[in-house]
Amino acid sequence: MIGMLKILEYNFKELQSEFVKNGFPAYKAKQVFEWIYQKAVTDFVKMTSISFADAKKLSEVFAPINLDYERTTGNTSVKFLLNTTDDFGIECVVIPSKNGNTLCVSTQVGCALKCGFCETGKGGFKRDLTSAEIVSQYLVARAEGYEIDRIVYMGMGEPLLNLDNVLKATSILNEETGANIGMRRFTVSTAGIIPGIKKLLEKGFKLNLAVSLHAANDGLRTKLMPINEKYRLNDLFVVLAEYREATSRRITLEYVLLDGVNDTDRDIEQLVALVKGTDFHINLIPYNTTSSSFKASKNMDRFFDKLEKAKVNVTKRRSEGGDISAACGMLFGKK
Ligand code: SAH
Repeated sequence: MIGMLKILEYNFKELQSEFVKNGFPAYKAKQVFEWIYQKAVTDFVKMTSISFADAKKLSEVFAPINLDYERTTGNTSVKFLLNTTDDFGIECVVIPSKNGNTLCVSTQVGCALKCGFCETGKGGFKRDLTSAEIVSQYLVARAEGYEIDRIVYMGMGEPLLNLDNVLKATSILNEETGANIGMRRFTVSTAGIIPGIKKLLEKGFKLNLAVSLHAANDGLRTKLMPINEKYRLNDLFVVLAEYREATSRRITLEYVLLDGVNDTDRDIEQLVALVKGTDFHINLIPYNTTSSSFKASKNMDRFFDKLEKAKVNVTKRRSEGGDISAACGMLFGKK
C-alpha cells in the first residue's frame, strides 16, 4: 500500500495525467472517473468497460478505495459513519426534501472552536479530513442509492480551517465528467473565519456562504463562540458585504435559538440593527439538545414574526435527524 496513489485525491485532469504517466491511455481515466463519480463503483474489477488485465494493473498503481461505513436510518434522514484508516469516525447525513437530497458533509475530525452549545467541539480537534475523505462521504451516499443534489459543509468541523481540502473536494465533485454538482449547489457554513472567507474570494470559488451567527452583539457571541474574540462582528460584516458584492451568492446567517440566552426582544432589536442595509437571510434553527446545559427556546414563532415585521428575510429551519443523533451540532463521530 505504501507509495500507492490515492485515486480519490485527483480531479479529472490530474487523473488523466497520472494514467498517462503510468502507461494507460487518457481515455481510460475518463471511464474510471465516470465509474467512480457517476455510478459510485469503486472497485476496478467491477467496472465492466475495464478489462480484467487493466483492472489488475490499475490496482497495482492505485490503492484500494476505503469505504468502510455503518448506516443508521431515521424517520427522515440517513446517517453514515465512515471509519478512517487511523480509526476515527466521520459522520455525514443525507437529508431528503421535495427539492432533492442534500448531503451534510464533515470536514474535520472534531473541531477546535469549542462553541459552548455544540457537541462536535466537546472532544476537541483531532485532525483535518483529506480531500479524499471528504469525497468519500459523497461516494458512500451514492453507493447506498441516494442521488445527491446539494452539498452543505455543515457536518463536523470548521470547513474554512481546512479550506484547501474542502476546495479540492469541491472541484472534484464539481467535475462535469463525474458527479457534476454545480458550484451554486455547494454551501460552506463557517463560524466566521475571516481569512477563510477572503481566501474563498481570492480563489474565485463562488459558493453559498452560511455564517453561524447565534448572537448579534460581541459580548454574547464571544461567550457562545470563543472564536468571536478573534473575528469580531464588525470586521465579519465588512467581509461578508464584500463576499456578497463579489460573488452575488446569497449569504445566510444561522441563528440557533437558545432559551433565555439569545431569544429576548432585545436580541431581536440588535439582530435587526445588525442586518440593516443588507439582504442577508436569517435562518432560525431550533436547538437540538446535547450534553450541554443549553435548552431550546420557546420563542421561535415570536422571533420569526418580529423579524418578518421588521422586513428581514427570515426562515425557520426544520430540524431533522434528531431521532438518530444526526441533526445540527449532534455529530461527533461516535464509534
Ligand atoms: N463550523 C461550521 C460548520 C458546522 S455547521 C459552523 O460553525 O458553521 C453546524 C451548524 O449547527 C452551525 O451553525 C452550528 O452553530 C449549529 N449547531 C451546533 N450545535 C447545535 C445544536 N445542538 N443544535 C442546533 N444547531 C447546532
